[in-house]
Amino acid sequence: MLSKTEIAEKRIKKLFTLAEEELRKGNLDRTKRYIRLSRKIGMKCQYTLPKELKRKFCKKCNILLIPGISCRVKLSEKTIDIKCFYCNNIKRYSYGKKN
Ligand SMILES: [Zn+2]
Repeated sequence: MLSKTEIAEKRIKKLFTLAEEELRKGNLDRTKRYIRLSRKIGMKCQYTLPKELKRKFCKKCNILLIPGISCRVKLSEKTIDIKCFYCNNIKRYSYGKKN
């Protein structure tokens, strides 16, 4: 039997896939609804979203972030800036320099 967190993980991943489909179709409301839902499931089941998913949505307006569609990615020397097209929120990540 699947554990609670495994079920949560499965549902969340499915929701992110659906959110992406809706975003590509231009259904912003649905995209946001799916992201909100997956965050809720995560909280309820105490499942921490993996890094790669955490970076995929805007915390402020719950839109899925896809470069060129809903956000702009800018690389600077030490950071990655991801700017949401809908609320202008900027997520900033630093990344380690190689070598
Ligand atoms: Zn946003």
